[in-house]
Amino acid sequence: MKTTKRKQQYDQALVNQDVLSQEAPEIGLVALDGPNDPRPSIRIVDDQIVEMDGKTREEFDFIDEFIVKYGIDPAEAKRAMALDSAEIAKMLVDIHVSRRQLLKIASGLTPAKLVDVVSKMNVVEIMMAQMKMRARKAPANQAHVVNVLDNPVLLAADAAEAALRGFAELETTCSVARCAPLSALALMIGSQTGRPGVITQCSLEEATELKIGMKGFTSYAETVSVYGTESVMSDGDDTPWSKSFLASAYASRGMKMRFSSGSGSEVMMGYAEGMSMLYLEARCIWLVKAGGSQGTQNGSIDALPLSSSMPSGLRAVAAENLITSMLGLEVASGNDTHFSHSPARSMSKLLMQLLPGTDLVCSGYSSVPNCDNTFAGSTMDCDNYPDYYAVQRDMKVDGAIVPISDEDAIAIRLKAAKALQTLFYTLDFPEITDEEVEAAVYAYSSADMPKRNVAEDIKAGTHIMESDFNGFDVVKALHECGYEELAENMLLMLKQRVAGDYLHTSAIFDDDFHVVSAINDENDYAGPSTGYQISDSRWERLLRHMDCVSPDDYLSAANADYIPGIEECGPALPGTNSDEVIIAVSPTFGKEQTKTIVDLPHNIVLRELAAGIEEEGLTPRFIKCCNSSDLAVIASEGSKLSGSGISIGIQSKGTTVIHQKDLVPLDNLELFPQSPLYDKKIYRAIGKNAAKYAKGASPEPIPGMLDIKTRFYMLKSTILHNHETGKIENKKPIELKVAF
Ligand code: CA
Repeated sequence: MKTTKRKQQYDQALVNQDVLSQEAPEIGLVALDGPNDPRPSIRIVDDQIVEMDGKTREEFDFIDEFIVKYGIDPAEAKRAMALDSAEIAKMLVDIHVSRRQLLKIASGLTPAKLVDVVSKMNVVEIMMAQMKMRARKAPANQAHVVNVLDNPVLLAADAAEAALRGFAELETTCSVARCAPLSALALMIGSQTGRPGVITQCSLEEATELKIGMKGFTSYAETVSVYGTESVMSDGDDTPWSKSFLASAYASRGMKMRFSSGSGSEVMMGYAEGMSMLYLEARCIWLVKAGGSQGTQNGSIDALPLSSSMPSGLRAVAAENLITSMLGLEVASGNDTHFSHSPARSMSKLLMQLLPGTDLVCSGYSSVPNCDNTFAGSTMDCDNYPDYYAVQRDMKVDGAIVPISDEDAIAIRLKAAKALQTLFYTLDFPEITDEEVEAAVYAYSSADMPKRNVAEDIKAGTHIMESDFNGFDVVKALHECGYEELAENMLLMLKQRVAGDYLHTSAIFDDDFHVVSAINDENDYAGPSTGYQISDSRWERLLRHMDCVSPDDYLSAANADYIPGIEECGPALPGTNSDEVIIAVSPTFGKEQTKTIVDLPHNIVLRELAAGIEEEGLTPRFIKCCNSSDLAVIASEGSKLSGSGISIGIQSKGTTVIHQKDLVPLDNLELFPQSPLYDKKIYRAIGKNAAKYAKGASPEPIPGMLDIKTRFYMLKSTILHNHETGKIENKKPIELKVAF
């Protein structure tokens, strides 16, 4: 079949490599509002919930049972469930209804009712509500720090850099599980070198992860997964009770812990039971709350390529983050999965959490290249830092990371790599060579690292796991080998485990190692100029190290004198020679400015214009227009003095026009407004055509040129034009003598 050439272009768009799916509700392929989803309902007898979302107590599965028993507040449910869903949705975006009021209402809403509420909202409303409902006032961010080789030196360097960029939490995992102890240790050393107080986790099989945490090599966990159907939970030998037990185990050892959930996982595992992704996720979020966890990482997480393939999928994903916040939980809001080939689509997804701000905007921004990301790639990776920083600057929004200089990155990477090298030496762990340290400091990815003996690393890791070796041994060793400050920071982190203040909802540590959480930094957004505000010093940090030009950069070629070959010789008088064509230049031409916007020297421009005129047998004459930088005025002045009545007007930046004296200034014979596109050839052609007009001919106009890239010259053009305008003098035109 014949297709349009435009269709052929569309077909090559990156976004077409994404897979979009039709809905298939019978297997759970529907983002929200599935036809089989239950209608919200509740029946309470003697303060006991005896019916929820269309099921009686006898029909409850263990998820319903758990939610009813430990989650929903029956006292609040009576009032809250009686409210119209649209009414609650309106309250969510109403600045006159506080977060606390809404937390109270949400504590009485069933999973189906929560979904019914958010499904009344469009994405902008979801974002507005997210801004108000986020637990902690200041947003934060989490990074993935990983590499496919599990190289500990590179991990330490990458962790240090990520910490310096401002990530509050760092997460690693391993290609080879037995490398985990060394990876966790490297992450800890790197993070505390970059910024004391950054907390770290190592995502692993649950028992190993817990053990590493208890040894003091990590400080939080977020991979205790819950699912929205009993079948998926049972499939993994889990129940809400076992998950809660695990959560308590972490808490009992002073480790921050949140669950992990996310829409789409149930259908991915084949047990969605015909329910929509968001409905099942709402059940998960209630499990998190009822299980006593302080938060969840959700936003589809690993299943994002699936949920985003559904109609309204990304809206539903934003909605699940909102439901988490409505239940008063910390939300680490996804953006940790590579789901689209399209940069536009990826950024659009991210903006729904970045703009309102969440407790952790990404539950894993890839601080390393995605090719090294053993979590299978994140929505954004280190190559996207410039995009992320530019968006923060454009929107004046705090996405919770800051730009750093390459010098600072190098310095902190070196510090961390050397610390790990010394520590390994002191502990008699496998050697880290100077060559490895050097490579880790400057590496792009693990492909730049010298080969390491992984078997030896695994042996050391096994020793860590099988002996009593723990965080205090690391503190002692660091102290012994001269890293007192780092030892102190690691000890402080271990002390926090005893104090337990960072177990509060949405807790992180600030630059001074103080706990900041939803308790002491509660989000109090209530409309414009309330809630989190970017302070002057914070704004300065968000702008620092951004590669910006200053007007001076464009005016560095400024010259107080004319370039050689040009001199003034008195007032310009009306010409009498009908063979002359005037070239009228602007106030700074050839003097304060000496090159066009694309650095073509002014003497060459004049030479080419003159040569074009001479090729037609006419004579060029040069004048300078002093009283205007406006091209139309310059050319009009020139034409009035020209014996032939024809002039070429030119501004310093290179914008040119051919003018005839009886035309009004803004009318012209030919205009050349795209100065960044003009080279010698064009100026010669302009000279030729001007001469032809002077001879009374009607030459073929020079074809128009177009390149949208000239848009990027707007700043330079503006600066050059402002500079020129500043040099206007109230003087009559001056005759110029030009020698080539
Ligand atoms: Ca994560």
